[in-house]
Amino acid sequence: MIIAVDGPTASGKGTVAAGLARRYGLKRLDTGALYRAVGLAVLDAGGEPSDEGAAIAAARTLDLAAIDENRIRSSAAGLAASKVAVISAVRTVLRDAQRAFAADPKGAVLDGRDIGTVICPDADVKLFVTAALPVRTERRLRELRARGETISFEDLEAQIAERDERDMRRADSPLRQAPGAHLLDTTDLGVDDAIDAACRIVDAAGG
Ligand code: C5P
Repeated sequence: MIIAVDGPTASGKGTVAAGLARRYGLKRLDTGALYRAVGLAVLDAGGEPSDEGAAIAAARTLDLAAIDENRIRSSAAGLAASKVAVISAVRTVLRDAQRAFAADPKGAVLDGRDIGTVICPDADVKLFVTAALPVRTERRLRELRARGETISFEDLEAQIAERDERDMRRADSPLRQAPGAHLLDTTDLGVDDAIDAACRIVDAAGG
């Protein structure tokens, strides 16, 4: 069974994807981590994430096993990710890695922006996870503060809105609800309730 989970930043899609993977015994790929790792690699090399040549080179040499799970979670890596993500050649390189992951005979859970639309259009179940912008900002603020990053609510909300805009407006694989995707709004849901709601959707879909 392949489960595609898409949605904007801090919508709860990662939490939902991890919960689904546990519940159904599937591997999970957080595809945003790949874009973050590419963005961070460009920054680490002193480059600019919107520089196509630098971003493509970083995508080609990306080692999935060497991704630094802590460093890619910074707000700078997130912003850099959304810049390298508009470059089609970067998406093509990462597309192959994502499809290879999804080809596991048992299936997999993949979460990102274009899983149901582009990476796995034939997924058995598709979810589009969303939540109100202030709620998403509050969630991300808690994560960043726990990491020791200091940023105001207003600045972070503007940064997330900028990222949403870039993800939805880009020409290649924009963020949108895939045809047939089930909408899950987590604005008023805690972690357990969001995962339970997602499991009900998958069960009802015959998962
Ligand atoms: O989900 P996360 O916030 O970690 O993703 C970081 C950025 O990577 C997103 O803002 C988006 O620009 C990009 N991304 C993408 N396609 C995916 C996953 C992430 O374009 N499948």
